[in-house]
Amino acid sequence: MAKRDYYEILGVGKSASKDELKKAYRKIAIKYHPDKNPDNPDAEEKFKEAAEAYEVLNDEQKRQQYDRFGHEGVRGAGGGFSGGGMSMDDIFSQFGDVFGGHNPFESFFGGGGGSGRRSSGRRGSNLRIKVKLTLDEIAHGAEKKIKVNRLVVADGVSYKDCSTCGGTGQMRKVVNTMLGQMVSASTCHTCNGSGKIIDKRPAGVDSSGLLQKEEIIDIKIPGGVGDGMQLSMSGKGNHGPNGGPAGDLLILIEEKPDELLKRDGNNVVYDLHLNFVDAVLGTSVEVPTIDGKVKIKIEPGTQSGRILRLRGKGIQDINGYGSGDQLIHVNIWTPKQISVEEKNALEKLRESPNFVPNPGKNDRSFFDRMKEFF
Ligand SMILES: [Zn+2]
Repeated sequence: MAKRDYYEILGVGKSASKDELKKAYRKIAIKYHPDKNPDNPDAEEKFKEAAEAYEVLNDEQKRQQYDRFGHEGVRGAGGGFSGGGMSMDDIFSQFGDVFGGHNPFESFFGGGGGSGRRSSGRRGSNLRIKVKLTLDEIAHGAEKKIKVNRLVVADGVSYKDCSTCGGTGQMRKVVNTMLGQMVSASTCHTCNGSGKIIDKRPAGVDSSGLLQKEEIIDIKIPGGVGDGMQLSMSGKGNHGPNGGPAGDLLILIEEKPDELLKRDGNNVVYDLHLNFVDAVLGTSVEVPTIDGKVKIKIEPGTQSGRILRLRGKGIQDINGYGSGDQLIHVNIWTPKQISVEEKNALEKLRESPNFVPNPGKNDRSFFDRMKEFF
């Protein structure tokens, strides 16, 4: 199913400021909030869609990537990475920023975020790393061991239910208003809404119960990723304080340029240099590809500027839509130094009618050839 444009979902222009985004998102979140639309899957879909759009556009880096690459640039790719969608927990935790640290639904609806959801503590922060990949790794996918410094729950730490809120993470009270009695709920200040507080902790561990630890994380990068794409591994970021869920590990892809093969989308381009004699008489040459060297045949009378295509020898599409091709650009290479005998032989050739260029008759124009590639 094609995803809708994020700007369109929020009903804002491409140049919308952060403030405009927030206002637009607030309106939609209130309109389609599940508490106001029980058993309405359409409203829930719209609610989630808007949350995802806001999550991306509100993050400068993600927004830039979305502007450049569309949904592709910000999706969590397959192969061990979480899918693009956000869970309800993610969405509710985002509300803290959107509604200024005050989630209106908690107090207006009194049901603890509705949907019977129990607070699961403050989420840990995300970690960001860059991974440089060679063309070979991009073409075939790669498994990497990456060293990260993350906050993890220290050994020997245990948590117990918060006694202030009884483990619910919320303080409730019944308030008399003009509209009648309403239940008002606010975040418990003792446990910051996690419902848990630290019970035992070894020396050297602060009240969060977390310690900085170096860890080696195995990441699996699917083939076909591109420069600037961001993958995310959920739960591999910092652990949350007071037993809250871990944040994500965000992996930014960087491409190392290859000496011989240039990437053009899913195609791979190679510049082949032929001497004039081989171009006239034909030959076979070895060319590098992402799967090693292959021999290709050069037909007699091959023109400079000709593009040969090795079908399917490009990079696999990240969405699984087959693979690109390798395009081989033929360039005629001209020697700068020749012997007297060679010069004499060439002078003779110059007089032959076969050596008078006749592009209209001998070959299609450059522009005609390019047409088949676009
Ligand atoms: Zn509490």
